[in-house]
Amino acid sequence: MKLKLVKKDLEAVGTKSFFWEPENQVSYLPGQYYYFTLPELKYPDPRGATRHFTISSSPTEGNILRFTTKIREESGFKKTVDELEIGSVIEGEGPNGTFILDDKDMGPHIFIAGGIGITPFRSMIKNVCDKNLMTEICLIYSNSTPEEITFRKELEVLSLSHKNIKVDFTVSHPEESAEKWDGNIGRIDENLIKNLVPDIAKPTWWICGPPPMIDGVEAVLGKLNISTGRVKTEKFTGY
Ligand SMILES: Cc1cc2nc3c(=O)[nH]c(=O)nc-3n(C[C@H](O)[C@H](O)[C@H](O)COP(=O)(O)OP(=O)(O)OC[C@H]3O[C@@H](n4cnc5c(N)ncnc54)[C@H](O)[C@@H]3O)c2cc1C
Repeated sequence: MKLKLVKKDLEAVGTKSFFWEPENQVSYLPGQYYYFTLPELKYPDPRGATRHFTISSSPTEGNILRFTTKIREESGFKKTVDELEIGSVIEGEGPNGTFILDDKDMGPHIFIAGGIGITPFRSMIKNVCDKNLMTEICLIYSNSTPEEITFRKELEVLSLSHKNIKVDFTVSHPEESAEKWDGNIGRIDENLIKNLVPDIAKPTWWICGPPPMIDGVEAVLGKLNISTGRVKTEKFTGY
């Protein structure tokens, strides 16, 4: 399906969203992803002209597909996307994926995100809030610095206006930031989880991010005796 670029937004340091208008009506569930193919690469890329990205928009936001990614100079694909003019047309194929939060599943859910792994959770949280669902969600979101927290303002506002949505950030390198950081410090470990989640026995646990981050958090949940049957993961391979 043809997708027309209608908007670009800077979300955090080095991280941008791209908004695409599909030629036809699209249907997807919060957490699913699409394949995006560029008609040509302006810069060479050994991985080619196609990537899969989670749809960071929510189905409640209308007939628009948004993806959010870290722009790295080393990626010919991303450099090309970043330089596309508004109105450019690319190919999209989807939706795909089973990392989906069902509207009927009221939780409690613990979402654990590392870096760009926030994208499916932004879609799920926005969907829950827009539909005024009472789904109980606690997001624990880890980044290196406060400047890298993607969707920070929006997540803070949504958690303030919806009592069923709790958002906690943690930052592993506050010393590298110009901002004074008063929040949680360090990677996601057993202590942080015990502090933020009073009853670890009940929830479904969702983890999303680059593979090493997922492996690390799975090991932490294992130490807390959380059975693997209650843990869902989405690995952003390629990072
Ligand atoms: C189901 C699924 C959903 C996904 N959803 C998203 C999404 O929503 N957003 C998203 O951004 N990605 C997502 N991804 C990952 C995405 O498909 C790409 O693989 C990823 O973004 C990397 O793309 P890239 O190689 O073009 O770019 P880059 O990450 O820019 O990598 C370019 C080069 O730099 C190297 N590199 C990367 N990171 C570092 C680093 N920290 N230090 C040194 N070198 C590095 C890489 O090995 C590569 O050679 C998803 C993957 C899956 C499987």
